[in-house]
Amino acid sequence: MNNDALISFTQKIVREQSLSGEEGAVIKIIADEMRALGFDRVWIDKNGSAIGEINCERSGPTLLFDAHCDTVGIAPGSIWTREPFGAEIEGSHMFGRGAADMKGALAAMLHAAASVDRSRLAGKVIVSDSVMEEIFEGGALKTVMDETRPDFVVIGESTQLNLSRGGRGRAEIHLETIGKPAHSSSPQLGINAVHLMAKVIAEVEKIPLGDHAFLGPAILALTDIISEPYPGYSVIPSRCKATYDRRLLPGETPESVLNPILSIPALKEINFAAQIAESDHKAYTGEILHADKFFPAWELDENNGFVQNALKGLRASGLDPQLSAYRFCTNAAYSMGSANIPTIGFGPGAEGDAHVVDEKLSLDELEKTARGYLGIIESVLAG
Ligand SMILES: [Zn+2]
Repeated sequence: MNNDALISFTQKIVREQSLSGEEGAVIKIIADEMRALGFDRVWIDKNGSAIGEINCERSGPTLLFDAHCDTVGIAPGSIWTREPFGAEIEGSHMFGRGAADMKGALAAMLHAAASVDRSRLAGKVIVSDSVMEEIFEGGALKTVMDETRPDFVVIGESTQLNLSRGGRGRAEIHLETIGKPAHSSSPQLGINAVHLMAKVIAEVEKIPLGDHAFLGPAILALTDIISEPYPGYSVIPSRCKATYDRRLLPGETPESVLNPILSIPALKEINFAAQIAESDHKAYTGEILHADKFFPAWELDENNGFVQNALKGLRASGLDPQLSAYRFCTNAAYSMGSANIPTIGFGPGAEGDAHVVDEKLSLDELEKTARGYLGIIESVLAG
């Protein structure tokens, strides 16, 4: 593997801004790189994700590597000390939006896959550079997996070079109360939907949440609240909506999350609804992705053969990974949480390196990540 080529390709894609739904230009660069590196087949799916395939000489399992190529934006008013799309290298790090989350891992996957010795291995390596992950985890990966039918999946989100075998999921819950409008000079003639919501919130926050030895506690956090009409000029609000972000543990389903809210005895007399949020997102290709905002948690047993083979491959590459879990939600919510295909995570950087001002990537970790991916491929497709 050529480390200079890996670094300069990472710079090239960090320099191309790629917000969710606007990834067309970076996808073209990535697909061109796959062709130049000698992938056997390269294509772009209906959502615009780039997919590259490498066929080994003998037949065997299909191993899919996935990295998303979209990034979050630059928050207005945030002050970067480096040019966010400069991909400047200073000392041991490269700076730029997406360097850690997760264009470094993406570049490492491409270069690792392209350097396999096809004659020694059995199976197929697929690299997917998926779109829209930052707003809809797993949505674009589902299409990639429908087309490629992998037996195993590796996602490249940050693990500090450890091997992640699980992650919490997330759900977005919408609550709504319905009151009755009245002039605010005679509030007793109406029913104030905000007062109703205050009662709902007080009760919802008393619901006990689960805890998981490996993934940590489930979480329920209020993220917004709004009344109608808004602004309310001399009118008692007739409607109030609130949103909760719920971090999920393995086994939790939409029903198991909503039922405890809907069956609170103290809220029997209140006119309110609770549901999982839904939304539509437009890909740069024009395709509409529909999201039910429920992304399940996932966990793979540490004795699972894929976990053990991947560990073996990472160690053979000179790395010393621990087993870990993601705190945040990733594309694995689909690959393992919904589709139940054995999935692990391995990538450079820490979770806290994502979405920050002066985002940066360690060049040493970039090189080790590429080496680690190659080790995983050689171990899992040894035949
Ligand atoms: Zn990410």
